[in-house]
Amino acid sequence: MSTESVGHLRCPSCGGRDIRHSLQNGIRDYIMRFFRRQPYRCRRCRHRFYRYTAPKGRGAEQLQDAGSEHEPKAD
Ligand SMILES: [Zn+2]
Repeated sequence: MSTESVGHLRCPSCGGRDIRHSLQNGIRDYIMRFFRRQPYRCRRCRHRFYRYTAPKGRGAEQLQDAGSEHEPKAD
């Protein structure tokens, strides 16, 4: 089992809850890691997005769809 369910997330595109961690690939995901953004994939509509993961103990987490702004066509 390599897929990890993250049932508390919702897809920003379709609102579905079948979200999985996406494998990091390429320099973009590498860079995003420095901004604490992890890639996720919606299994319902295949939308890929990043989610900001706040450091533990810093209160509420923020949802930011940073992946769809200036996205090179890597997929
Ligand atoms: Zn979706």
